[in-house]
Amino acid sequence: ESVEQMIDRLCAKIPDHPEPGVLFRDLTPLFADGPGFHRTVDALADAFSGQYDCVAGVEARGFMIAAAVAYASGAGIIPVRKAGKLPRETISQSYNLEYGTGTLEIHTDDAPRGSRVLVLDDVLATGGTLGAAASLLTRGGYNVAGFGVIMELTALRGRAQLGGHRVRALLRV
Ligand code: IMP
Repeated sequence: ESVEQMIDRLCAKIPDHPEPGVLFRDLTPLFADGPGFHRTVDALADAFSGQYDCVAGVEARGFMIAAAVAYASGAGIIPVRKAGKLPRETISQSYNLEYGTGTLEIHTDDAPRGSRVLVLDDVLATGGTLGAAASLLTRGGYNVAGFGVIMELTALRGRAQLGGHRVRALLRV
């Protein structure tokens, strides 16, 4: 079974969630499957091997992936959090979501300036979330090493929001 086939098998599809007409892709069965999670994390880490000093994960599902990729590759991890959670000086960025708006924040000084940061999340949809995360990291003085996601919903053209950085999606649907 290929990584693509495995991800598709372990992805739950929920019609009309969170609103009518949307087919929501839920990857929690993949996270809950030991071999499935292990292969997924290794595939993301290998895709950017040697190209990053830190990974950044977007709260909350991105944290699970980023922590595992950071540990597997010996890299550090920077949390990209929802507004109001981080205790020290932050920079923030508001953005449009597929269903609403949001604000993301990072600390100004978690990792050394110039660190190469791989940005990770579970699903690339419109690209609003990862685009906001990347602009935050860039404003914070980091170098975006690329984007890694488990699944890309290609019809939403999120790649176009990601400024020409390399994007690795393990499964494109
Ligand atoms: P964006 O539209 O690319 O900004 O995605 C918004 C956020 O919602 C990201 O964190 C995605 O992981 C999440 N998201 C959007 N669509 C789905 C979906 O179908 N399944 C799971 N997460 C999704």
